[in-house]
Amino acid sequence: MTLLDQLVALEGVRPTQPRVAICAAIESSTDHPDAEVLMARANATHATVYRTVKLLTEIGAIRAFDFFGDGRNRYEVNSGDFHGHAISRSTGIVTDIDIAPYAKIVRETVEKAGEMKLLVITE
Ligand SMILES: [Zn+2]
Repeated sequence: MTLLDQLVALEGVRPTQPRVAICAAIESSTDHPDAEVLMARANATHATVYRTVKLLTEIGAIRAFDFFGDGRNRYEVNSGDFHGHAISRSTGIVTDIDIAPYAKIVRETVEKAGEMKLLVITE
């Protein structure tokens, strides 16, 4: 099911052009864009992007990460997989890391710590 399908399944949410563009921008991105980047890619307003990503996050269609602890969330489609993130401190580029071979150990460790967000910081 596409992000747009999940969004318009909500009561009172119509498939407006900005919502279509925002959903497409998230689905086509592999770089974990923030709201500012989504505004540019979808040519949508600040308010529309924030409302849309808030709804999509609330229904679990996308995941939001505050990688840098600065309150600026980065977004990705919630594909249900379990992966890590390598983050460049100098460029801010976020890269998914396949941790499938270690998933069981990592998941148990993360769950034991009461935290479901795994971040891997690179230099
Ligand atoms: Zn990711």
